[in-house]
Amino acid sequence: MRVVITGGAGFLGSHLCDALLERGDGVVCVDDLSTGRLANLEHLRDHPGFVFLERDVSRGLDVAGRVDAVAHLASPASPPDYLRRPLETLAVGSRGTEHALALARRHGARFLLASTSEVYGSPAVHPQPEEYWGNVNPIGPRSVYDEAKRFSEALASAHARTLGTSTGIVRIFNTYGPRMSARDGRVVTNFITQALNGEPLTVYGGGAQTRSFCYVDDLVRGLLAMLDCAEPGPVNLGNPEERTMLELAELVLRATGSRSPVLHRTLPQDDPPRRRPVITRAGQTLGWSPEIGLEEGIRRTVAWFVARPEELRGAALT
Ligand code: NAD
Ligand code: UDP
Repeated sequence: MRVVITGGAGFLGSHLCDALLERGDGVVCVDDLSTGRLANLEHLRDHPGFVFLERDVSRGLDVAGRVDAVAHLASPASPPDYLRRPLETLAVGSRGTEHALALARRHGARFLLASTSEVYGSPAVHPQPEEYWGNVNPIGPRSVYDEAKRFSEALASAHARTLGTSTGIVRIFNTYGPRMSARDGRVVTNFITQALNGEPLTVYGGGAQTRSFCYVDDLVRGLLAMLDCAEPGPVNLGNPEERTMLELAELVLRATGSRSPVLHRTLPQDDPPRRRPVITRAGQTLGWSPEIGLEEGIRRTVAWFVARPEELRGAALT
């Protein structure tokens, strides 16, 4: 296959580039480097199957040559990133998705949408199955991300219904691992960099809110399975192992051997109190389930940061 990956210089996108190239596919990576970085792709620079195009997909998307699949991952993903870029986030979720879908349609290619557990908002149903329609504040600060992704899902579904485009929607739950940016402000990177730098771990609110964290290698296996089939989805991809943020802080302190204290900060507006995927559909349709537990995944992520002291310079984004 020759696969176009929008957002391929980011955390998840760069791992997807690696996985596709490893199995012999060609990759055209399109990224405006707004939250991603070339360092994530440095090792692919001379790979014969790899092409990098620096483009803003909200402005348009044209790719020369054959295209068998389009994986649309372009979008700021961490709350500080999308809160800093509210209009760009809405643009890439709407116009960007429209351009990526049009590219897939022109080439008769499979289209994969990286949607998110955020479409469930502050969930009134727990854990979250795909049948749940969500509880999103349409005008709150997080809505720029949540509603952009909900719109992307609507657009992909309409394309499939009216134009016959082969679309696959995955709803990704919190994913972590090597190549996350130390300054993306997500909880896993904040806790790891704070613990390794001997700074206090910033727990927002009381720390009883939960998330379910999936290791990146597991997630990428799920993306490949969705690319390779005709399943429309939506399919939840995530690890149902649910932890409170206080439990995560303790786990990171153990994994790093750090003696940093915990410091409570104000809880951001509309921060979902709990989140855990139901992954029955992923098992049935993709034969997918996660294999790497949180302790092991955090151990691998900590090892990656420890080997890159330059990543740890400067404070975490809080
Ligand atoms: P990331 O910020 O590391 O990667 C996003 C990439 O998209 C970056 O390389 C960025 O430069 C690029 N990008 C943003 N706007 C663009 C534009 N207009 N044109 C071209 N490129 C653009 O984030 P990530 O964690 O790798 O997330 C990738 C995708 O997965 C996103 O769509 C995100 O919403 C989704 N997702 C991620 C998670 C997670 O836990 N990591 C959870 C749910 C959904
Ligand atoms: N969080 C925290 N400390 C931090 C960063 C985040 O306690 O330094 C909390 C945040 O309030 C949320 C959870 O951790 O409840 C997950 O936050 P993240 O930004 O990683 O992802 P999302 O909110 O999108 O799930």
